[in-house]
Amino acid sequence: MEIKLELLPEEKRGRLSVHKNLPFGRIFTDHMFFMFYREEEGWQGACIKPYEPICLDPAAVVFHYSQTIFEGLKAYYGVDGRIRLFRPERNMARMNRSARRMCMPQIDEDFVLKALKKLVAIEREWIPREKGSALYIRPLMMGTEAFLGVKPSSEYIFFIILSPVGAYYKEGFNPVTIYITDKYVRAAPGGVGDVKTGGNYAASLMASEEAKRLGYTQVLWLDAVERRYVEEVGTMNIFFYFEDELATPALTGTILPGITRESVIQMAKDWGIPVKERRISIEEVLEGAESGRLKECFGTGTAAVISPVGCLAYKGKEYVINKGQTGPLARRLFEELTGIQYGEKPDPYGWIQFVP
Ligand SMILES: *Cc1c(COP(=O)(O)O)cnc(C)c1O
Repeated sequence: MEIKLELLPEEKRGRLSVHKNLPFGRIFTDHMFFMFYREEEGWQGACIKPYEPICLDPAAVVFHYSQTIFEGLKAYYGVDGRIRLFRPERNMARMNRSARRMCMPQIDEDFVLKALKKLVAIEREWIPREKGSALYIRPLMMGTEAFLGVKPSSEYIFFIILSPVGAYYKEGFNPVTIYITDKYVRAAPGGVGDVKTGGNYAASLMASEEAKRLGYTQVLWLDAVERRYVEEVGTMNIFFYFEDELATPALTGTILPGITRESVIQMAKDWGIPVKERRISIEEVLEGAESGRLKECFGTGTAAVISPVGCLAYKGKEYVINKGQTGPLARRLFEELTGIQYGEKPDPYGWIQFVP
């Protein structure tokens, strides 16, 4: 499939007026990638065109039954002026995995990655250059058939939009405080917890609002069956650095298989740290925090990279980890990952793809 280009003339394009303190996800670039799908004909109409509103039938499947999936990755402006993507082929593969679970059509991963790179190349002037800032990339697919019956849509749209975002850590690499909810759950076995689908995030709002009201940054989710085993924190995977191992919940279908998670596991193993993907009970974590066996706790995800956790609140009691300070492992992982992403450090795993 060819990608048709309908680009704005130079004088009609916007530009990044500020490079500092960019908000997350509020500014969008001039152009978007777009294509659509019909059951008989497959994907068609691929184009890069001006960023514009989408017109859909009020009966479109997505509005009523949330048949939608998305991805999130970033383009980084390197210290050498080259534009880097971090493991984008993993995002493409995960999108197809999500599509399968939501009864949506597969995308051609190579083609969409090529389109993504082309779009980023066109919008290169929008990439903020301050270390820590980046161009956030949001691919999304949704069912658009106008039909109120509950069944997979026969029509879809797919698009990619871009948003320049500032550094996640504005006041230094400081730990967050986390609220452990035993009232709400994120995902149950057999459900869609391991899929990046819109409904999961709508379902999580209530718990995160409650956490914020109580003065905490994010929610830590426990498993839906026993409310005992740790799952994820907010929209990040979670790691616990115990005295003798780095532990993270195993991918049992209720947590999102994060690409940052996968990368952290690989690096820690290569540094000689034993890594275990296993069940981690909340008692083990809280006892570890009290006894000091738990040395560090941190979340991982594209937005924050590594997010150290300094305090956990559970059933009205607060448990402080590593005296509320960022630990050396979280710092080392953060430095190594961002070093690779901004081209300051070698890329021994071949994780980087360049935007030509
Ligand atoms: C996207 C996401 C993550 C992190 O995935 P990365 O690929 O590392 O960005 C973790 N948990 C949830 C629920 C997510 O949506």
